[in-house]
Amino acid sequence: MKLETLGTSKRTHTCGELRAGNAGETVSLMGWVHRRRDLGGLLFIDLRDRYGTTQIVFHPETDSALFDAAGELGAEYVIAIEGEAGVRPDGTINRDMPTGEVEVTVKTMRVLNDCQTPPFVLEEPIKASDELRLEYRYLDLRRPHMQERLLARHTAAIAARNYLANLDFLEIETPMLAKKTPEGARDFIVPSRVHPGKVYALPQSPQLYKQILMVSGCDKYFQIARCLRDEDLRADRQYEHTQIDIEMSFATQDDVFTMAEGLMAAMWKAVNDVDLPTPFPRLPYAEAMARFGSDKPDTRFGMEIADVSGIVAESEFKVFSGAVAAGGSVKCICAPGCASWSRKDIDNHEELVKKWGAKGLAWAKVERDSLTGGISKFLSPNEATAIMDAAKAGDGDILLFCADRTKLVHDVLGRLRLAVGAELELIPADKLNFLWVTDFPMFAWNDDTDSWETEHHMFTMPRDEDMEYLESDPGRVLGQLYDLVLNGVEMASGSIRIHRRDIQERVMAVVGMSREDAETRFGFLLKAFDYGAPPHGGIAPGLDRIVMMLVGEDSIRDVIAFPKTYKGISLMDGSPSEPEPEVMKEIGISFVEEKK
Ligand code: ASP
Repeated sequence: MKLETLGTSKRTHTCGELRAGNAGETVSLMGWVHRRRDLGGLLFIDLRDRYGTTQIVFHPETDSALFDAAGELGAEYVIAIEGEAGVRPDGTINRDMPTGEVEVTVKTMRVLNDCQTPPFVLEEPIKASDELRLEYRYLDLRRPHMQERLLARHTAAIAARNYLANLDFLEIETPMLAKKTPEGARDFIVPSRVHPGKVYALPQSPQLYKQILMVSGCDKYFQIARCLRDEDLRADRQYEHTQIDIEMSFATQDDVFTMAEGLMAAMWKAVNDVDLPTPFPRLPYAEAMARFGSDKPDTRFGMEIADVSGIVAESEFKVFSGAVAAGGSVKCICAPGCASWSRKDIDNHEELVKKWGAKGLAWAKVERDSLTGGISKFLSPNEATAIMDAAKAGDGDILLFCADRTKLVHDVLGRLRLAVGAELELIPADKLNFLWVTDFPMFAWNDDTDSWETEHHMFTMPRDEDMEYLESDPGRVLGQLYDLVLNGVEMASGSIRIHRRDIQERVMAVVGMSREDAETRFGFLLKAFDYGAPPHGGIAPGLDRIVMMLVGEDSIRDVIAFPKTYKGISLMDGSPSEPEPEVMKEIGISFVEEKK
């Protein structure tokens, strides 16, 4: 087949543009052969580009050589055609597609490129494996479904830029070759060629730079920033993710919330034409944990956790009273209508909670206003009644208990609530439940290292009223720290920051960081604080997760043009790959042979 370069010809329209009103016009289209149908001596092709598909038709009597050439076109060939736009004959109009009234009768055609048989059919829904899709990402991205995702991402990013620019935020780029930033993940390291033995870190976020921009008097900063973290990948995590990174001077938590609510509203309006109701509800961390067992609760459905510790503290049932006596809790959730569960159903759920660290699953069914089965025989009638009241349980329900350390109880019941909620189809897919989770603890105790570590990062300002307990009782100090959650997914994290050296040094001391260590790692930030740092705070919504929610995908990989596999491999370009020996020599590093 003769291939042609583009030459001087131009498209008159895209493949998504023609309407009945164009009938009679001579048009020129270029695109990919999407689908071919031979029908009663006529040859139909759906010609596709980013904007849509247009039906083009070849008549043997117009030009038999052209007709034969068209017969040789394969899937995904790139062609240019010229022809006459016309209205399709009655009965063949397709109301489901914007160009569905039109077809173009082809007069001339040029084949701009051929295409090997594609390794998978570009169809919806796609049947090819994830691996194949990633290896041939350029083919996968040609699918209208994926093009829509790229467009949604673009629209969301533009909406964010416009919204923030209108509020006087300045878009400022910060370095990619940087000093280690403490977001708690592992860094990607770049060895320096010019300074042998020294490395840069790729930024886990622009955190330190954005704070320094506040010291620089920039007042309001934003950046659609790449953040790189070397951590295990999963559906909502990639090595590289994108944050709409934001920082504001002289801002209170309320100022950050109002700005971020407007930002979400702007993106939802631009992409989905939805008006989000603002302000978003707020829930302190402690209440989120107690009611939902999670710091990112999905509030689209009930099944909240009931605390029955007080009721069973003196119970004969030692599993319960013992947990309370040991300083833990006994809590339960009520699965509505699940008294019909078989022994096997219960065992299946028990297996789940054991995986999450529970010792077992205590349960009782509610029948005729009393508890039956499971652990019911160990409870007094008064205890049973009080438990049913606390859990708002009624006939036909089942109660699922966890008795253990409070942290574990929350974690187990929080997960069980989500699992059972999904099984019972209690979670409405069409709800958008945004939620601020506030007042997080500043520090969490790490049993493995026997030390305090910061819950978010160490630049968060403690609440004024807790400042006095920083040294004496770090566990009770809450931070001016917040997360934005949507339907159980964390969309953003942020805080009001420390802007004074003395407070920053106190927080570093709590997490056991010596002055010298602090000086080597963030000395530049502390020094900047000595030169008139204004109070400031900010937030960083994750663009990948936002777009994932906007388009209703379950994985951020579907909203990233070139994502990596769970193993961190880019199947299309084959990275990571072995460096050439000269490169290694130049930067002065060598790999240590792994011991067999
Ligand atoms: N830098 C923080 C993060 O990446 C967000 C923030 O506090 O603004 O989680």
